[in-house]
Amino acid sequence: EEYLNRLRQTEPQVKSFLHVSENVIKQAEEIDRKIERNEELGSLAGVIVGVKDNICTVDMPSTGGSRILEGYRPAFDATAVKKMRECGAVLIGKTNMDEFGMGSTTEASSFQVTTNPWDVTRVPGGSSGGSAAAVSARQCMVSLGSDTGGSVRQPASFCGVVGIKPTYGRVSRFGLMAYASSLDVIGCFGSSVVDTAILLDAISGHDSRDATSSKREVPNLASQLVSTESLESKPLKGLKVGLISETLGDGIDVGVVSTIQAATAHLEELGCTVTEVSLPSFSLGLPAYYILASSESSSNLSRYDGVRYGNQVAAEELSSLYGASRANGLGPEVKMRILMGTYALSAGYYDAYYKRAQQVRTLVKKNFKEALDENDILISPAAPSAAYKLGEKKDDPLAMYAGDIMTVNVNLAGLPALVLPCGFVDSGATALPIGLQIIGAAFDEGKLLRVGHIFE
Ligand code: GLN
Repeated sequence: EEYLNRLRQTEPQVKSFLHVSENVIKQAEEIDRKIERNEELGSLAGVIVGVKDNICTVDMPSTGGSRILEGYRPAFDATAVKKMRECGAVLIGKTNMDEFGMGSTTEASSFQVTTNPWDVTRVPGGSSGGSAAAVSARQCMVSLGSDTGGSVRQPASFCGVVGIKPTYGRVSRFGLMAYASSLDVIGCFGSSVVDTAILLDAISGHDSRDATSSKREVPNLASQLVSTESLESKPLKGLKVGLISETLGDGIDVGVVSTIQAATAHLEELGCTVTEVSLPSFSLGLPAYYILASSESSSNLSRYDGVRYGNQVAAEELSSLYGASRANGLGPEVKMRILMGTYALSAGYYDAYYKRAQQVRTLVKKNFKEALDENDILISPAAPSAAYKLGEKKDDPLAMYAGDIMTVNVNLAGLPALVLPCGFVDSGATALPIGLQIIGAAFDEGKLLRVGHIFE
């Protein structure tokens, strides 16, 4: 009830939810009954969770932020949702997002624009802006997002919460609406590293319904987070940290640079050795990401044809039914991505764009491997600036895409990365949070969480 009240109070300004569950209290009462009966409780018993709207839920609509799926109710739960329910989670609602995950502000949602709880004239980031804002505004305790090119990490940074993008394959994608299947992962938001770890533990693991999900054993990450030792004991002694040199140069706000420098000094106080490390292909990652993500999405989104799901515009001919349903149901950003993707994949251009982008992806992976052979973890800002004003980049897609420079390379390499608040910049009206990104080797989430827990 407390969370529902808080949600009702804050929602008119924040607008993070597309749907609020009708049976929140019923779900919570079910946990109460278990407590009365002395039954075993799961790791998320009574935990209030928000779920990004591109993750399928059987008891709530799932639109992916798109008009074309308005009113769609899946016949099944995503595996991550099923696992959360089994652990006793209370699902409070579905959170707003850029249509099908394409965007960095939630302004590309078909339904509403979410605002940043720190300053409601600013964007919460995106595409999982609703999930990040909901945790930041304490409308839920933790939430699920998805991260194809930074959609968990950049909003976590803008909203001052913790966000983790797990290794590709750690969490099943079954029931996650596909944007770019080779990059998509479900990730977690929380207001502390421990909260985020508990949620990640609950949703990780192999799933026969997702052929790309990993069979690796899932360690209990949260239980390994020991209570923070004192600063004097240098709890991170010997840890080698590589500061990615390309992430502190031109185009990065000075406030971000100085905040990251202060975070670096804090890591040194904790006992880490920090050295600069170069990833020579870093800047190529951005164009490669936008070619690959658009190409994959142009294929994935062909399923929204007005026949199988969602809204249909009636027409005499089948081809005009497809055309009219898609023209009416899909938003401008999504249409632009589909056009870019089909262009990059077309016969005459395939070698010049798609193939080259795949080659860049190989280079990016190689750069990371070399850097992580030398270092335990890598660090960078999570975004080149703090949250910017609503509307500021809405009509300038290239400026908005450029804001993803800190995050997209990690998806190209399939690596895990944690973002946590590390300081503030002064924006005049209010202080705005800045996030530190910690990147690790594949399936090394445990190390990221340990460092993050001690750091915070
Ligand atoms: N902003 C990026 C994009 O628009 C990343 C989105 C995401 O991670 N879903 O593609």
